[in-house]
Amino acid sequence: MAPYPKPAPERLPRWARLLARFMVVPWGWAGPEEGFKGRVRIYLFRCGRCGRYSLDYLRGYSGYLLCYHCLEERRRAEEAAAKPA
Ligand SMILES: [Zn+2]
Repeated sequence: MAPYPKPAPERLPRWARLLARFMVVPWGWAGPEEGFKGRVRIYLFRCGRCGRYSLDYLRGYSGYLLCYHCLEERRRAEEAAAKPA
């Protein structure tokens, strides 16, 4: 399974929550230990859809981020839909 997006740490510092309401916050780095070819910037952000916090790297040419919580929700919905009644 892909290591990102990840849920943000439970105990996010208050400054990080505040900042992530207004911007995408550089959070750390990921590297080969997580399956990347080189070093990749990891960002903290607040999802505009569900309002929860996630960590992800910038994807594609436009540099979009995926929300862990929304992906999980969709995965569970698809799983439920695939189950025979
Ligand atoms: Zn979300």
